[in-house]
Amino acid sequence: TKIGIDAGGTLTKIAYFDENLELQLISFLSSDMQAIKYWIETNHSLASICLTGGRAEQLKKYLLSPMDIPYIVEFDATMAGVMYQLKQENIECEKAIIANIGTGTSIHIMKENSHSRLGGTGIGGGTLIGLGQALTGITDYKEMIALSKLGDRSSIDILVSDIYENNKLPINGALTASNFGGVALKKTLNRSYEDHLSGVQGMIGEVVASLCIQAADAHHVENIIYIGSTLENNDLLKNIMESYTILKEKKPFFLEKHGYSGAIGALLES
Ligand code: ATP
Ligand code: MG
Repeated sequence: TKIGIDAGGTLTKIAYFDENLELQLISFLSSDMQAIKYWIETNHSLASICLTGGRAEQLKKYLLSPMDIPYIVEFDATMAGVMYQLKQENIECEKAIIANIGTGTSIHIMKENSHSRLGGTGIGGGTLIGLGQALTGITDYKEMIALSKLGDRSSIDILVSDIYENNKLPINGALTASNFGGVALKKTLNRSYEDHLSGVQGMIGEVVASLCIQAADAHHVENIIYIGSTLENNDLLKNIMESYTILKEKKPFFLEKHGYSGAIGALLES
């Protein structure tokens, strides 16, 4: 059987169909090429691979395959994987902004079966683990996500309503006026690791969602599809992005296999 591999900046995702034609997904740290090689050699043949992602060339060298391993462009693979999942989940969506929140974030538009890249931001999943580590020293991803859910970012951020207090509000008072501005301007003595981590999640979610909302406005698109492993088991980030997108009168979509679009696309296009 064939396998699709998306070797990303942080995680390497693998997709394949098992004997019962059920889609199977597995991920590894991209830094652990030995584990990836071992998994491929014990489960599949090198001949069955199709690669995509920014680390594809490095992985290809590491695998020492005697024949050439086919490669497809990351954006094409991602789009194919997104289309497949939309069909599987019965989601009607012909035009959409697509944001892939990986190590960094890449923003695309899908329209009438074609797609193009609109831009991106360095604020992404790498920011979550990097800034999270800088603020708390925590390196375990699961622990970081779990703690962030327990936090309260009301003393971390400044809301529009904090600034305007009793004045007439020019925009929705519940919107964030300044991510992390509260750390400098609000007189709270105790801010926990949990609060800081929830502030990081808030900043990432709001930056990415607002870029997507602006792109949607500029291109007269209503739907925004958010993908990438940063959303994996991360309901807090999902909720932040979902509510902000709805507040701005756009339709947010999340796919079940958040981080696996590229790997699924590589599998299908091979
Ligand atoms: P890029 O597409 O930018 O090259 P990538 O494909 O490796 O990067 P994804 O796999 O989509 O990116 O997402 C990586 C992010 O997912 C990490 O930055 C982190 O926030 C999050 N993540 C989810 N699970 C883990 C994990 N087990 N270990 C580390 N990060 C994880
Ligand atoms: Mg990626």
